[in-house]
Amino acid sequence: MLNIVDRLQRVKENIHNVCSKLGKSPTEIILVAVSKTHPSEKIRELFKFGHYDFGENYVQEALKKQEELSGCDIRWHFIGRIQSNKAKYLAGNFWMIHSLDSLKVAEILNKRSSTKGITQKVLIQVNVGEEKQKAGIRKNEIKDFLQKILRLEHLRIEGLMCIPPFFEEPEKSRPLFRELRVLRDNLEIEFGIKFPYLSMGMSSDYIQAIEEGANIIRVGTDIFGPRDL
Ligand SMILES: *Cc1c(COP(=O)(O)O)cnc(C)c1O
Repeated sequence: MLNIVDRLQRVKENIHNVCSKLGKSPTEIILVAVSKTHPSEKIRELFKFGHYDFGENYVQEALKKQEELSGCDIRWHFIGRIQSNKAKYLAGNFWMIHSLDSLKVAEILNKRSSTKGITQKVLIQVNVGEEKQKAGIRKNEIKDFLQKILRLEHLRIEGLMCIPPFFEEPEKSRPLFRELRVLRDNLEIEFGIKFPYLSMGMSSDYIQAIEEGANIIRVGTDIFGPRDL
C-alpha cells in the first residue's frame, strides 16, 4: 500500500510525463489535492512534504480545517456547490472559488468581498454535459452570465471550470474538455479579456484534461484514497 505522499508523488510524475510530451512545464499546472471528507492531519502531512494547494467542497468542513491548519500557508480552493445562504462565508477565505454558477451567489460574494476590501478570484462552472441535475451554467447562457458578473467589481473572473458526466472510459471526457477550452478562447476574443485558468480533470481523467489545456486539475481519490462518504 502506498502512503499519501507516495500517491501524491505518483500523480506529480504523471503530470510531469504528460507535460514533457506536450512541451510544457509542469509548473504551469496547479494540482489541487481534493481533501473533502479527509482529516486535517492528512492535509498537514502533504503540506509538510511541500504541497500547498488543497480543495474542499463543503463550507463548514473547509472553515474548520482552515482553523485547524491556521499555521500552514495553504492555498485553499473551494470546488463544491455554493448554497446562497453560505456564500458569504466563502469570500476572502479561498484563493480561488471554482464553482460559481449563479448571479445571486455572485452578488453575495461581491458584497462580502467589498466589505472585506478584497477582490475574490472565481471561475465560472459550466455544465458541459448539459446534464439536468448538474451544477453549472449552460453553454448557451455563459455570455449573458459573464456580462452580468463582469460588472461586479470585487470579483475577478479567472476562467472556467467543468465536471463532465462520469464515464468509465476517460477518453470520453476529452471532447468536453476541448469544448470548454474552445469556449474560453472564444470568450477571451469576444470580451477582450484574458481568462487564464481552465479547471478540469479529476482522478480518472486528469491526463486527458491536461492534454486539452487544463492548468488546474482537481485530484482526490488518486492522492487520498477512496472516500467512505
Ligand atoms: C470530489 C471532487 C473532485 C475529486 O474527485 P476524485 O475523483 O476523487 O479525484 C474533483 N472536483 C470536484 C468538483 C469534486 O467534487
